[in-house]
Amino acid sequence: MGITKEDVIKFLEKAADLIKQNRDYLTQLDSAIGDADHGINMDRGFTKIMSTLNSVKDKDIGSILRACSMALVSTVGGAAGPLYGTAFMYAAKVLDKKEEIAPEELYQALKAALEGIQLRGKATEGEKTMVDAIAPALRAFEEKLRAGASLKEMLQSAVEAAERGKKNTIPMKATKGRASYLGERSIGHQDPGATSSYLLFKAMLDVVEEKGG
Ligand code: ADP
Ligand code: MG
Repeated sequence: MGITKEDVIKFLEKAADLIKQNRDYLTQLDSAIGDADHGINMDRGFTKIMSTLNSVKDKDIGSILRACSMALVSTVGGAAGPLYGTAFMYAAKVLDKKEEIAPEELYQALKAALEGIQLRGKATEGEKTMVDAIAPALRAFEEKLRAGASLKEMLQSAVEAAERGKKNTIPMKATKGRASYLGERSIGHQDPGATSSYLLFKAMLDVVEEKGG
């Protein structure tokens, strides 16, 4: 099933809602191993996206995501702002001029987003960052895609993998970002960025489930 521009807009609205609902939770996670601002930062960014959406919603999917990238870069700050900003920019490049996309194109866009995050932040899996939720989610997505599953199954599998991925950050020692300053003391806490990345995958799944698959 194709993913329309309206679906992309619904995803952004869902993501903004989920981030807002989890604002305090994300901030609380960041207070254990960071500077207690991740929820506040992300909510500021997605609130900005919501206020920008009206002026770009008639453009193509790539242009909409590019506007999101700029909103995130200009408002989120910290490490997450440039990283998510880069993710949206790389996804936008893949989806340039598109009004509707196939699951394969969504996969290529997500893969590009992760590449952008890794080029910018230099984190690999196991360093207790958002990469630990996104990388396994993309492997799960691709496996279902290659097996000819439905988009809903691809996203269900991706969300499950992202959820496991964020939990798997608990025993990890952070070696990137602010949490790495804590060294061994970062062990035992769930990574806030892996948690917000999980929420973004959940927002995609919610849209597709509401559509009926
Ligand atoms: P800051 O740490 O600057 O306060 P945030 O609190 O908004 O920024 O975001 C922290 C999150 O950013 C971390 O939980 C982690 O997932 C992610 N992060 C930090 N550095 C990197 C990196 N180099 N690569 C990928 N993700 C990172
Ligand atoms: Mg922080």
